Amino acid sequence: MAEAGSVAEKVKQQADIVRVVGEYVRLKKAGKDFSGLCPFHQEKTPSFTVSPIKQIFYCFGCGKGGDVYNFVMEMEKCEFPEAVRLVAEKCGISIPRSKERSGEERKENQQRATLVEMHREAQTFFVKQLEGTLEGKAARAYLEDRGLDKDAVSRFGIGYAPSGGDTLLRHLKSKYNEKLLVESGLISRDQGGKLFDRFRRRITFPIANESGKVIAFGCRALGDDQPKYLNSPESPIYSKSNVLYHLDRAKEGIRRQDFVILVEGYMDAIAVARAGISNVVASCGTSLAEQQIKLLGRFTKRVVVNYDPDTAGQSATERSLSLLLEQDFEVRVLALPPLGDKKADPDLYIREKGAEEYQKRLKEAPSFVDYLIARARQMDLSSGEAKTRAVNFLLPYVQKIPNRILRSEWATRIAQHLRLEEPVLRAALSKAASERRSELKTQPELVPSAVKQAERCLISRLTQEGSLRGALAQRLQEDPGLYQGLEAEKIFAVLAVAALSEKPLQVTEVATVLEEDDRRSLFEILLKASEPVIWREVESCLAVLRIRRLKMQRDDAQRLYQQECVTKGIDSPESLQLRTVIQNLLDQLQAEEAAQEIEQKTKAKDERDPVLEEIQKKIENSLRDMGLRK
Ligand SMILES: [Zn+2]
Repeated sequence: MAEAGSVAEKVKQQADIVRVVGEYVRLKKAGKDFSGLCPFHQEKTPSFTVSPIKQIFYCFGCGKGGDVYNFVMEMEKCEFPEAVRLVAEKCGISIPRSKERSGEERKENQQRATLVEMHREAQTFFVKQLEGTLEGKAARAYLEDRGLDKDAVSRFGIGYAPSGGDTLLRHLKSKYNEKLLVESGLISRDQGGKLFDRFRRRITFPIANESGKVIAFGCRALGDDQPKYLNSPESPIYSKSNVLYHLDRAKEGIRRQDFVILVEGYMDAIAVARAGISNVVASCGTSLAEQQIKLLGRFTKRVVVNYDPDTAGQSATERSLSLLLEQDFEVRVLALPPLGDKKADPDLYIREKGAEEYQKRLKEAPSFVDYLIARARQMDLSSGEAKTRAVNFLLPYVQKIPNRILRSEWATRIAQHLRLEEPVLRAALSKAASERRSELKTQPELVPSAVKQAERCLISRLTQEGSLRGALAQRLQEDPGLYQGLEAEKIFAVLAVAALSEKPLQVTEVATVLEEDDRRSLFEILLKASEPVIWREVESCLAVLRIRRLKMQRDDAQRLYQQECVTKGIDSPESLQLRTVIQNLLDQLQAEEAAQEIEQKTKAKDERDPVLEEIQKKIENSLRDMGLRK
């Protein structure tokens, strides 16, 4: 991420993490660090810590941690470059405009910029067509009929693509080459190679990216032309599964209210937004893509799904539910009641019943499990077999709830509503759960205390600057057996490599290559470590690791010896050899333990005892003779 010498690196060096975090969290000084209530999980007592010295943050409650960029990315739900820009802005650091890496990249950026510009022109063109042409007049009448007045038309940039077949083409042709016109998706090429307008005799709805730039169009046929809805194809600037209609305008509302309403089409999104509910987006199509959910997740984890009530909409709702639950969303479902004999989509419902009635329904929208239970109850529940079918319908959803307690609550609820024997349902649930347990990530517990004292001490020494760091890394590199098999093995490995690279250590970068548990341990150790570790401590920690290894080797050798005695006899050459090995290990162990004991005594007295020192020296010498010391 923040490469040495990069702009990001420079900004980070100048930025003050306390100041940046302080904009979001009320921080109190606590020793050398600052603490406050964690913005990433609910808590009453502060477990969120910011270290100005290490320029990192870490929450002892939920385990989130990182540098100033990680914090801003998490809070602002933005990407890395944006975080760099924001941090620079907050700290008053000026940054040069980023240069494209290569000519290739520059060319692509240029092409994208040109396509965006072309869409801007097309947008202006479509709007003018709607306002000022005879054909446009008919389109306006249609829109009025759908309850979209002049205000709404201009607010949502609605326009009209005329029937001519090449009107837009003629408008754009002079400025853009054919290749680019076709690539934009606004213009198509027929089999004979002739160019023509993709959208003809259609109402146009501009589709914008997150920052509000028009990158595609969704178009509805004015007459009976098929298909009824025709959208822009995928292009260098538009990827359907990465875009949510109306997100650019909904962002603020979603953040403020911490939930989003998900509808199917742009007409629905417009209707809901016009009802005064700005936090609405449309998936534009019945299937919600995983990327769209991830995009949404950057703004909120709470969603109300309000798809069309027809069968397609219903199965779309249920498909989306699975995806949303997997991504840890809290989901409610708004299923609007039919209007007379008509099934109501949000657009129709608001037009007939008004904004207030819709708002009311929205507030009452049940959680997804209640929605599903209601669906299951519509099934025939008269026989045991039928009940099994209903349970089989529900189970996949319940299984997708990552939280075990919630899952269990829902199981009880389902059992009550479907009048099932709860144990039977639970058995089904746990059977299903065990079948997929392997894919389930275990809930990360706070593991750091398991990392033993010596390991912690050495790890924090590896993160502290100074020549000792390199020396320790060298020792570990030469003798990786010292840390192999330890809980913190991976942390040792990456820190040793980083320490030997002679670049200043970026803990947050090291952390990115670690698994979640190791990453947490590392941050936790970093924040708890206070004093710089002196070499004597390092030595005694290394001794602890050596003793641990000697014990393991001794145990292995003894096991092997017993086997050899049984299979080859107590006096076989193999057994005899092993006996020597064991004796040797025991000698080493004894010497190490004696040295450790004296070290501890010296430390406890905290003063030099000449006699003890004399003994210590002797032991050191004998260890050297055994080849255990350099
Ligand atoms: Zn937290």
